[in-house]
This record gives sequence, C-alpha cells and structure tokens, in this order.
Amino acid sequence: MSFKDLGLSAALVRAVNDQGYDTPTPIQAQAIPAVLKGGDIMGAAQTGTGKTAGFTLPMLQLLNSRPVQGNGRPVRALILTPTRELTAQVHESVKTYGRHLPLKSTVVFGGVGMNPQIQTLRRGVDILVATPGRLLDHMRQRTVDLSRVEILVLDEADRMLDMGFIHDIRKVLAALPRQRQTLLFSATFSDEIRKLAAGLLISPTVIEVAPRNTTVEKVTQRVHPVDRGSKRALLSQLIRDGDWKQVLVFARTKHGSDRLARQLEQDGHTSAAIHGNKSQGARTQALAHFKQGRVRVLVATDIAARGLDINQLPHVVNYDLPNVPEDYVHRIGRTGRAGKGGAAVSLVCVDEHKLLRDIEKLLNCRIDKHVVPGFEPDPNEKPQPLFKKPAGGRRPPAQAGRRNDGARGRNSASAGRVR
Ligand code: AMP
Repeated sequence: MSFKDLGLSAALVRAVNDQGYDTPTPIQAQAIPAVLKGGDIMGAAQTGTGKTAGFTLPMLQLLNSRPVQGNGRPVRALILTPTRELTAQVHESVKTYGRHLPLKSTVVFGGVGMNPQIQTLRRGVDILVATPGRLLDHMRQRTVDLSRVEILVLDEADRMLDMGFIHDIRKVLAALPRQRQTLLFSATFSDEIRKLAAGLLISPTVIEVAPRNTTVEKVTQRVHPVDRGSKRALLSQLIRDGDWKQVLVFARTKHGSDRLARQLEQDGHTSAAIHGNKSQGARTQALAHFKQGRVRVLVATDIAARGLDINQLPHVVNYDLPNVPEDYVHRIGRTGRAGKGGAAVSLVCVDEHKLLRDIEKLLNCRIDKHVVPGFEPDPNEKPQPLFKKPAGGRRPPAQAGRRNDGARGRNSASAGRVR
C-alpha cells in the first residue's frame, strides 16, 4: 500500500516521499483514511509508530482542501502536546509534510519569551502547535483566538494528564467551537483517558496498533546487577568496551543527570544532560549535538526525554530504573523506532530490586541478568530507600511530582518524584 492509496494529495505524497518513506506504517494506514473522512479518532499509539505523520498528513489535506470560513487567517487546527520538545518536533513534522502547501504554522511553549510568539500569532497561522500552559497564557492575554478551530489534536494525552494538565486542557477546550473534529492519541487508555475521551469525542474510530510489547520484542534487554556506587564506572566501561557511538542514558533526578554527564566527560566520553531545569536553548543544543554525533552520551530524565524524535538509537541505558514500570517501556521504545531494533541495558543495584520485579511483571517476562566481571555486587549491601517520603502527603511516588517539565517553567520540586 502507498500513501496515494490512502487518499492523500500529490503534494503530500511528494513531501512524504521526500523523507524517504513510501510505505505507511500501520497507524498511518488506519488513521489517514479515518481522519480524511472527517470523524473523531481515539488512537492508541506510542512515539515511534509514525503517529505524528498519521494525524499531520490528513490534517494538512483537510485544511488545504477547505476554504477558510470568514475573514483573515484564523487558527484552524490546534495540536496540544505535553512538552516543549514534543511541540517542537510535531511542528517540524507539520512543516516537513506541509512544505508544498501554502499553510502557515507556528509553535507556542513556555520557557521562552511571549513577544515573538505574539507577533507570529498576530500575523496569522493556520496551524498552532502548543503546550497547554503557555497556550492558556496567550488565551488570558487575548493574543490567540481559538474560536474558529476546525481540528483539535491531543497528542500524548496520557502524559498531559500525568503532568497535571487536565485543568489547563479543560480551559482550552472551553474556548473551542463545539463543532470540530477531535483526534486523541495516547500510549495507554487508562480510565482517566477514557473519561476525558467520553466528554470530547463523538462516535470516534478507535485505532489500536502495536500493543506495547511489539516494540519491546524488537529490543534486546539486559540487566547488569551492580553496586550503587559502581554504576558510573560500569557505564563508562560498557561505553568504552562496546565502542558505543550514541547512547541515551536515563537518570532519576535532574541533579543526578548533570553529575553523571560531568563524570562521563571526565572519563573521556562526550556527554550532555537534558532536563527541565535547563534553558530551552541548552536543551535544543544538547539534542542537536547528540543527533549530529558531536555528543556521544545524552543523559536525560523521563519527562525531558519523552517524545524525543531520535531515530535508530542503538543503545538505551537505564542508569536508574524508573519508578513507574510503564516508563521502562517508553524508555526502551527509543531503540525500537519505526521497525529498527536496539539494545536496552539496565544497571540495577540492591535498592531497585522491587522496581525490577514490577517491570518484569508488566512485561510478563524475565529480563536476562549478567554480572560484568569486576562489578560483582556485594551480597551484603543493604537496600536504601529511593524516594524521600513526601512531607505530609500520602501520594505514592507514581503520582507525586509529575509536574510540567514543559510549559511555563513549573519545574518539579514536588516531593516523591523529583525529575
Ligand atoms: P513518531 O511515532 O511520529 O514519533 O514517528 C517515529 C519516526 O518514524 C519518525 O522519525 C518519523 O519520521 C518516522 N516515520 C514516520 N512515518 C514513517 C514511514 N511511513 N516509514 C518510515 N518511517 C516513518
């Protein structure tokens, strides 16, 4: 099957082919015709499945084929995403696939000045990609008008809810016309997502592709048991001995990410850290250097790494295991993108045995354990708690501290889960 068979116009097929893609991915094969028909969509898909093109291509076609109602250049499509990085990436896709069409687009996200965004919005755009927080700021200042939106996309809706955006999203929704097309994408369909969807979508086409284990199956997974204090030396050795050219390393905290990147530099591996305390410029630069191969190791927290479009990533390392088992699946999904395999290595110390068991339970399989000679864990080492008890709060770590790492710079200092 080709993109043309899905009903896309010549200009869009050309733009996709320019990227070297001639076969739609499963989500594209399902989503593109469904969106073109004009109906609502509830799509279960993670990054790496090609979902961005799955909603961007038909959205561009619909906008381009319909005349603008009324005067001026109103915002006709709104795409909401959880993080700055994802917003920037989705916007890149909009520009890439829309390159042969006369449509205009822009992004708004927090952490950068409002004024340039206001200027661009004032000149008029057809498509707006935004994080909910900054979009609300614009709405409050009346620097954006959403009253003529025809298509709304909620991308990574589960993450937006996890990050506490539900109230912001509801305020944005209240400013949109009731008659519109709504496309909701989420990695999982939790009860919360279903509740949101029930109030938003009208007889949606439900699209489910690549149950998450499909991605996981393509990835070689391995656990290296190791002492807490020897993780860094082991990681350095693995990078050196394996001659790893590009490795994404997940660490639990922002501070820990910075420290690890510094230490790896000292060990002779070019490294950078990316997390919510970094300025937008620093994050963009670190990502660009990593993609260009100028930086070999990128150390990231979960939220900062979420949705990063890094292709064919050969190695992912869990320097710290995530405390939410689903995050493990998201992390190692970085290596299995668009059909390519990869290797995921987890350095697991005695404090993390329970987390590892939870992950294996979710995956319904045991992960290979391999002790690297010279890094045998001390059998007498006592576990230490990974999370400080939230002061006065009773929230478990899985819900605590999941704050916006994206818009408005509300960084996570909440107890329990410091990013
Ligand atoms: P996404 O799930 O939207 O983040 O896309 C994952 C990656 O797959 C991106 O790097 C896309 O550029 C790439 N991609 C999208 N569509 C296709 C396709 N039809 N064939 C191969 N790669 C694709």
